[in-house]
Amino acid sequence: MSRFRPYFRYLHLVRAPLAGALLSAVVFGAAAAGLAYIMEKALPRLFDDDAIPLTSAQLYGYAALIPLVFLVRGVAGYLNTWLITLCGVRILERMRRDFFARLQMLPLAFFSGRQTGDLISRGIADTNQLQFTLTSVANDLFKQPAQLIGAVGYLVFLAAKNQDVAILLLCLASIPLCVFPVRYVGKHLQRRAEQFQAEMGAVTATLSENLGAIREVRAFSLERRENERFERSTGRLLGFQMKAAKYAGMLTPVIEIISAVGIAATLVYAYRAGFTWNQFFAILTALYLCYDPVKKLGAVNNELKRGSAALARLDEVFNEPITIADPEKPAAVGRLRGDLAFEDVSFAYRADLPVLRDVSVALPAGTVCALVGPSGAGKTTFANLVPRFYEVSGRVAIDGIDVRAMRLADLRRNIAVVSQEAVLFNDTILANILIGRADATRPEVEQAARDAFAHDFILSLAQGYDTIVGERGASLSGGQRQRIALARAFLRDAPILILDEATSALDSDSEAAIQAALKKLMRGKTVLIIAHRFSTIRDATKILVFDRGEIVASGDHASLYATNALYKSLYDRQQGGA
Ligand code: ADP
Repeated sequence: MSRFRPYFRYLHLVRAPLAGALLSAVVFGAAAAGLAYIMEKALPRLFDDDAIPLTSAQLYGYAALIPLVFLVRGVAGYLNTWLITLCGVRILERMRRDFFARLQMLPLAFFSGRQTGDLISRGIADTNQLQFTLTSVANDLFKQPAQLIGAVGYLVFLAAKNQDVAILLLCLASIPLCVFPVRYVGKHLQRRAEQFQAEMGAVTATLSENLGAIREVRAFSLERRENERFERSTGRLLGFQMKAAKYAGMLTPVIEIISAVGIAATLVYAYRAGFTWNQFFAILTALYLCYDPVKKLGAVNNELKRGSAALARLDEVFNEPITIADPEKPAAVGRLRGDLAFEDVSFAYRADLPVLRDVSVALPAGTVCALVGPSGAGKTTFANLVPRFYEVSGRVAIDGIDVRAMRLADLRRNIAVVSQEAVLFNDTILANILIGRADATRPEVEQAARDAFAHDFILSLAQGYDTIVGERGASLSGGQRQRIALARAFLRDAPILILDEATSALDSDSEAAIQAALKKLMRGKTVLIIAHRFSTIRDATKILVFDRGEIVASGDHASLYATNALYKSLYDRQQGGA
């Protein structure tokens, strides 16, 4: 249970239905005692030979007691189930929201080295498991102990009346024995449940990876390999599921056998002690009402183990520290000028592999700076440190203000990023451009689209700006997507611009339009160009040459070409290949 303690705060969301559920559980339990009472007191009267024959009113009255008790029990049980489900559903809805909100805040570093599919599975399958655990557990968590207390109470009453404590002890002696199978099963089940949930993540990851690479699968004829990969994963899933079933299914028969032994012993004792059939039958009923909750509480334990395995996977997300957050006393930041400075900046994705080493460079506002160097040298990483995507040692500053001293929203409002692969949301073109600046007016959006050479092609679409672009912009060409992304950047009009130059050439019409748009976009801005193809270098006022995490040279094209061997070889290779 302690596993769940940090989440108890969610309970205050559901105080009212929870109280109702508890109340109905008490009524449900009391009905159990009532049932045993009827068995012992009311029914024997009907069949007592010496008794005065019952009037029909009495007969119907007694007979009606049975459905009446079941009616009370049924309504209370139903209310309990319904209210508990409401609690579970509400809590899990909130947890799912919190999970998603947490994902929005976690640093990018958290996501590298994690599979998207596995995270999806945590958000869907693990929360589902948890909801099931919560409702099924809570359902029995009150009802069953209430029934147990009711039944045991009745047994105590019976023993007291007969002045025969031995029968009571005998009846209840075997209940503690049930603890052993419950614990044994629980322990084994938890391991299987952990494996099962993890494998569920792997299956989802395989699926989502496959769907993300559907073209590659066709192009390289990987269908069979992918099928096999998926089958292996689902096969393992099935294995863990059956192992869990093996342990979970054991519990009921074991507890039933233990309780049957208890009943047999009671039978022998009752016979010797000269109990009447009526008394014995009442004891039997109470005993059944005792063991049934024990059995169900065993199942509750199983379910808790499953839930705890799922929760452990959510914990990893909930407990991951949010390392990149707003400072407590943020600097007042309006529109920045765009003086960029890196001071002794070092950074590593993984502790043992430094990616940037003691990088220092100052770029006055308005510098168009190209980052060149062999692939893997750290150019992209360098640029990603400006919007504070990662935490560094050393200092990255804009206009002399450490980026860590600014609110993230203030910082990022001053930066426009245009990446290699423009990612669009499955929404209208208008909405996709508005991402650049949410409060822009329609004329501003259209102007931005014109600046990005996108306006004309947008108007040529049947729905114009209201065209839905499909998932990730699938219904548009690469060049069109790129131009929408540029329109976003125009609309944002941020003083700092980060361009991740496309690695592959676009069709020449788009290419020319995009180059012209870029030139316009860069005007008056501090620009970092991650130059993969050197085609933009002619616009740069400064070039930084990266090699293995360090800036090994800087200057303009002519001087670097003359003095830096690495730069010269990179440049020549590009020209030769182009
Ligand atoms: P460039 O842009 O110069 O090609 P990058 O900055 O992308 O280089 O990468 C620099 C180094 O950091 C490479 O060795 C790369 O493997 C590593 N790297 C890049 N991104 C990540 C990441 N998200 N997680 C771990 N390592 C990364």
